[in-house]
This record gives sequence, structure tokens and C-alpha cells, in this order.
Amino acid sequence: MNTTTKFDAIVVGTGPGGASVARELVKKGQKVLMLEWGNDVPFDGSKTRAMGIIGMPGKNYTITSDGMIVGKGTTVGGSTSIFCASAFPPPVSMFEKYGVDIRSEIEETKRDLPIGKLKAELVGPHSKIIAESAKNLGIKWEQLDKFIYQDKCRLGCFMCFTGCPHGAKWTARNYAHEAAKNGATLLSQAKVLEIIIENNTAQGVKYSHQGSVHTAHAKNVIIAAGGLGTPVLLRRAGIKEAGKNFFVDPMVLAFGLLDQLPGGGEVPMTSGVHLSEEGIMLSDLPLYPLVYTLLSLQKLHFKNAFNHKQAVGIMVKGKDDLSGEVTDTGGVKKVLTPNDHKRLNTGYHLAKSILEKAGAKNIFKTMIIAGHPGGTAKIGDVVDSNLMTRYNNLYVSDCSVIPEAWGLPPTFTLITLGKRLAKHLN
Ligand SMILES: Cc1cc2nc3c(=O)[nH]c(=O)nc-3n(C[C@H](O)[C@H](O)[C@H](O)COP(=O)(O)OP(=O)(O)OC[C@H]3O[C@@H](n4cnc5c(N)ncnc54)[C@H](O)[C@@H]3O)c2cc1C
Repeated sequence: MNTTTKFDAIVVGTGPGGASVARELVKKGQKVLMLEWGNDVPFDGSKTRAMGIIGMPGKNYTITSDGMIVGKGTTVGGSTSIFCASAFPPPVSMFEKYGVDIRSEIEETKRDLPIGKLKAELVGPHSKIIAESAKNLGIKWEQLDKFIYQDKCRLGCFMCFTGCPHGAKWTARNYAHEAAKNGATLLSQAKVLEIIIENNTAQGVKYSHQGSVHTAHAKNVIIAAGGLGTPVLLRRAGIKEAGKNFFVDPMVLAFGLLDQLPGGGEVPMTSGVHLSEEGIMLSDLPLYPLVYTLLSLQKLHFKNAFNHKQAVGIMVKGKDDLSGEVTDTGGVKKVLTPNDHKRLNTGYHLAKSILEKAGAKNIFKTMIIAGHPGGTAKIGDVVDSNLMTRYNNLYVSDCSVIPEAWGLPPTFTLITLGKRLAKHLN
């Protein structure tokens, strides 16, 4: 890297928050540098590749002080590399309260991306059984919108979780690669260590790449290192209020065994229900076999663990109270509140009744895990309504900026925030 080059913008992290802003800035003709800690190895759907994305503690997942595993994808595309591709509509009115109007960016995203419900041929038996059972109980269980190029998708596949090798699942990697194709510099395996601030203004970053430390300068610096990565960099820059009172969207998975389940893998989270007053969301979850086995063994459910083909599962996601602290070194102190546990228990009992109605036996719930950390640099607290921090030209574009307790799949929202940010960066 030529350290004397001055960019219009440096974007740190290539998840949906970072890749969307980078792609839009390039379209405006800006000179953009994207720095990504993870690698850019093609998705091949293999277990080895999946472990490379999620297997390393600290880098790929974090264990909170409460013993909760918070998963994240460290690769070009961020956590969307392993996400379930649900495109949940952004809560427009929540953002309006903070002076953030994302309505036009929602329409732009719908034009850009393959957002829609799966066509009938792609809805698998697992999803159908759960949906029918939920509807029989009077639950308003509906198909969810997905980020999937349906002509490339197929049944009998579990590879949404390992990085889709068929190019069917949209990930933020698509946006990052598009930005690079149109002129941005994309440097993978480049970990940003520090933001350079002079005269109360961001000047650039220091990052490690191939064993040495480099410096890059830009007019604007956008931190998009994810809900747990961004607060570490902000705190190092002196923004000590970052990383406090955040959410992780905890979830438990309920699994049971059917006598027979036709078919193999299918798209996870095909349909579900959002109970906003209760603060819970449920969806079907045909899970990647290895992860299913590990989660069953962790709870000593041996019969379940080795009968993946008969397993039916439901994900129960709760909206957790804002609490906890991300430390200067990236440690995550977070203890779920009694209310958080209550919400998950309510959701689990509902999931259990759906599984029972479907005829499932041996029903159990997994340990609590999480996958959407955010709210660590909230709008109205750490960043303003233009996503700028208290330092000039230093912005945040990722799950960190979400201003309130959440409990929803955030990717669609993060894309719109990235697009909106790019509009006012000159
Ligand atoms: C298993 C799973 C399933 C999910 N399913 C869904 C779903 O169906 N729908 C949905 O909307 N959401 C889903 N999510 C959540 C969604 O993927 C994340 O909320 C979203 O990707 C967060 O985007 P982000 O831009 O905030 O951060 P991330 O996607 O986490 O991206 C941050 C990027 O920054 C990089 N980075 C971190 N630190 C540094 C550094 N110091 N220097 C350089 N780079 C750095 C990381 O490597 C990463 O690539 C799921 C998550 C998981 C784990």
C-alpha cells in the first residue's frame, strides 16, 4: 500500500454497514479504501471454510461475561457471510424520532437487491411443517422476505450458514466486490488498530497487514467494524462513552424429533412471526448439521444430537434490555436481565407448543446464543443524525448506531443507513 495516497474515504469493515457506504461513495466518483480484518477466500460451502469464518474465539465469536456466545463473520462481507438472509423491513418510525429518514433508501435497496418471499418450489418440508403447525394454533405465521437470488437457490442444501457457494444468497461481499470492481481499493486481512485524530478531526487510520503496520489518510473515515468491533476503535480514539448499554438480540433454539422428515437441507428462516409487544420473534430454523449436533451435545441430548435428519427447529429471538459494556480490549460484559430471560422463556413455550402440535418428541432448548450485537455507538448519543461522532469527519456505519433495544434482523436497516450516509459525504 502506497502510504502517501490520500483517499476521499476509508471504510473500516465490509459488513452491510461498511460495504453499502463504500459502494455508494464509489458510484459518486470518490476514491475509497476498504480495510477488512478477514480474508476474501471464495465461499465453497465447506466445513473448513466455515470454521475459517466462525471458528476462532475473539476474532469470530465472543463469549460474554454471562457465558453467551455471540457469533460474527470475520471475512469480506462480515456476518452476512453466515447469515440466514432474512430481509426484515427497517422500522422507519424508530429512526424518524432521531431525525433519520430512511424511506428513499429502503426503496433504493428494494430496487438493488433480490428481496422477496421464497417461491413455492424453494419452501422445504421443514418450513412447511412448522408453518402448518403454527397456523393450526392460530399464530399469524407468515413467509419472511429473503435476500436470495432464487434462480440460483436449491433445496437439499444447508450452505447458507457456511457461505453460499452457489451465489444464491446475497451477502455484503457482493457490494464490497462491486465497489472494488468500480475502482475502490479493497484490502483484506488488514486489521485497523487505531484512528488518527488531529485537531479534533479524523485524518486516517493505522492498520496491520502482512506483518507490518501501515498508515492511510483520507478526508472521511467511516468505522463499520460491527457492533463489537467499532466501540473498541472509538474508545481507543478517546470516545469512552462508546460500548455502553447495548443489545445482542439473544436467542434460544427449540428442537424436537419427528418420526420422519422428508428431504434434506433448506433455507433457514423461511417463515415466522414477530410479536412486537412481547419483544420476541420466532422462525423455522433448519440448522447446519455440525452446529445442531454441537448445540444438542452441549445440553446432553444425545438422541437428538445424532438424528439431525429427523430434527425440526424453531429460533426464538428476544429483544434484550440495553445493558453491559464493551471493554477497551474488546471484552464483552453483559448479563441478561430477568426480563430478558422472561421474554426468551415465553418464546420457548410458544415454540414448544408449535413443535408438539407438529408431532415432535424429545423437545429441548439450546443454550442462549446471539448474533446481532449493536447499539454500542447510538444515534443521539455517540453519533449524530448524520452518523458523525464528536470528531469531525469520523463516522460510524454499522449495527452500533441503532439507537434503541432491537430484537430484529438488522441487515436491511444497515444497508439503508450506509446508503444514506454516503449521500452527505463529500
Ligand atoms: C448466524 C447468523 C445469522 C444471521 N441471520 C440474519 C438474517 O437472517 N437477517 C439479518 O438481517 N441479519 C442476520 N444476522 C445478523 C447480521 O448478519 C448482522 O447484524 C450484520 O451483518 C451486522 O452488520 P455490521 O455491518 O454491523 O457488521 P458485520 O457484518 O459484523 O461486519 C463488520 C466487519 O468489520 C470487520 N472488522 C472488525 N474489526 C475490524 C478491524 N479492527 N479492522 C478491519 N475490519 C474489522 C469484520 O471482520 C467484519 O467483516 C445474522 C447473524 C448471524 C451471526
